[in-house]
Amino acid sequence: MAGKITTVTLSCPNQSCEADFEVPVRELHKAAVFAASHKKQLIAAACPKCCHVVTLLSEAPTNPDDLQEWIDKTADSDNWLECLPIRGTLARIPAGYIKEGGEILYQPGDAGDSMERRDYMYAEGIDPLCYLKQKGRAPEGT
Ligand SMILES: [Zn+2]
Repeated sequence: MAGKITTVTLSCPNQSCEADFEVPVRELHKAAVFAASHKKQLIAAACPKCCHVVTLLSEAPTNPDDLQEWIDKTADSDNWLECLPIRGTLARIPAGYIKEGGEILYQPGDAGDSMERRDYMYAEGIDPLCYLKQKGRAPEGT
């Protein structure tokens, strides 16, 4: 194989969706930096069709250089993806958002505490911005 892999194809873990979509590896690098600094599992992306979060296997390295090497080595195998545990439907779907200072916080459908986008993705397994965009209720300027 010549050169580094720059795009990977992911499959949505949502069984009623299972869409395939492409993600630039540089996005995975950014996600890896976040995961490393927060000591969390690596969220690769959200499915553009249903907004479910796709995480990488827990053995995925979170150092960007190591991650690239790992992707180049592993991307050919079929089983390198893993989804977050499925949670109750009500809790996962955002009810909306609020603006606090310059920040946008997303409100879970179960009326729990509002969260930043990435925190929401970790807690609820769905990308709230993606979901609200699809419903035509995304915050202005996003
Ligand atoms: Zn999907």
